[in-house]
Amino acid sequence: MNKTKVIASIGPASQDEATLKALMMNGIDAVRINMSHADFDFCDDIVRKVQTLNQTLKKNVAIMVDIPGPTVRIDRVKDGCVTFKAGTTVCIHMKEITGDHTKISVNYPGLASDVKCHSIIKIDDGKIILEVIDKEPEMLICNVIQGGLVRDHKSLNVPGVPLNIPFLRDYDRQIITYAHQNHLDFLALSFVRSSEDILEVNDLLIELGNDHLGIVAKIENEQAIEDIDQIIKASDAVMVARGDLGVEIPFERLPGLQKMILRKCHIAGVVSIVATEILSSMEDEMIPTRAEVSDLANAVLDGVDAVMLSGETTTGKYPVETTMMMERIIASSEEDINYYEFVETSMRTEKQDITGNIAYSVTDCANRLKCIAIVAPTVTGYTARKISRFRPSCPIIALCPDPETARSLALHFAVQPVHVKKLDQLDKMIHVAKECVKTYIERNEGHYILTGGYPFEGVKHTNFMRIEKL
Ligand code: PGA
Ligand code: MN
Repeated sequence: MNKTKVIASIGPASQDEATLKALMMNGIDAVRINMSHADFDFCDDIVRKVQTLNQTLKKNVAIMVDIPGPTVRIDRVKDGCVTFKAGTTVCIHMKEITGDHTKISVNYPGLASDVKCHSIIKIDDGKIILEVIDKEPEMLICNVIQGGLVRDHKSLNVPGVPLNIPFLRDYDRQIITYAHQNHLDFLALSFVRSSEDILEVNDLLIELGNDHLGIVAKIENEQAIEDIDQIIKASDAVMVARGDLGVEIPFERLPGLQKMILRKCHIAGVVSIVATEILSSMEDEMIPTRAEVSDLANAVLDGVDAVMLSGETTTGKYPVETTMMMERIIASSEEDINYYEFVETSMRTEKQDITGNIAYSVTDCANRLKCIAIVAPTVTGYTARKISRFRPSCPIIALCPDPETARSLALHFAVQPVHVKKLDQLDKMIHVAKECVKTYIERNEGHYILTGGYPFEGVKHTNFMRIEKL
């Protein structure tokens, strides 16, 4: 059983029930629905299918919905696609028009006032590059530096220029309300600029009375990098969104920034996610490049909690084969993780917290005794999250009486959430723990550790660990 989690973005290549089922059987832990491309009908369809499959397959696959946030998109263009030629002039209008090879409009009318002359504008992940040479109140006049095909609704980035777009627009609020009403598990926030943006989302969640949705801050631009410490503090998970981040900043800075974010997340005990182009050659081929294998392995060795597939599973030719390949590379890379080093770093930064200190002892003991599993009954998920931070070398089976808690643990390193009936007696707990180790752990002999808080009602922290043998 792998400890590094896998998130699969869902699209036309994976939306049918058979493919979703195959992805879930192959071990994905969460699905992502990207609302920059999907609509509510698509969402309804996927949510219904995943919820049903969770029941029939006895899984706890979480659902993450991704809001577009303060992204700028171009409006409709003639026949859906036009060509910009290098050296020609293109005008960007603030009032909606149908675009052609000389003009387009955008969905954010403040762009003309935010952007300065000589700013660089990138369209479609930087494939097309424009330079602003003049501006009028309702229009930017640009020179095409790098031309190419421009399709409807492609995203537009202005690297290094802070835009005054409100973080949440109507559509984002509708999506968050939808996520709340449909009991979804994670909200991915695109283009977070500061912790203030996250607080705005928190306020909306409080208004809705939702304390379940986990917040995933996507780091996609320089502003987010500058406020990274506060963003990590305010989030449940942080995603290194290498696609847009590599458009907004020089992409050669990505590897260093990825390592920095992973390290900070680990110290703060916040989930880290690495996303985009992890196995992108598998969109067309059955095997990945050696460079992709290395990239994935390095993220695992750096102790990432979860990795995410995008194009590979939304529109790629081999969504199922890609997830199988991913699990295979993860399994092998996890053997090379320096688990002792992670325990030590975590211990040095641990607070004076009883659960945290027991989590340390449990992990250290599990690693030294080469235990086959740690079993942690948990009502809120706190015990399992704490142990996960210490990066044990064996899986943590989290016994959760609440299915929402089980799904909230989907992204945490090593945690295998299992939904169980309410555990009220120690004997019952010891029995269920043993049965779960037999069911979920491939190795059928060895020691395992049971840890938790007992009695269930009344104790606020983990207070015991027990070593058992299978
Ligand atoms: P996206 O975000 O797939 O929603 O664009 C990830 C990224 O930019 O890397
Ligand atoms: Mn992005």
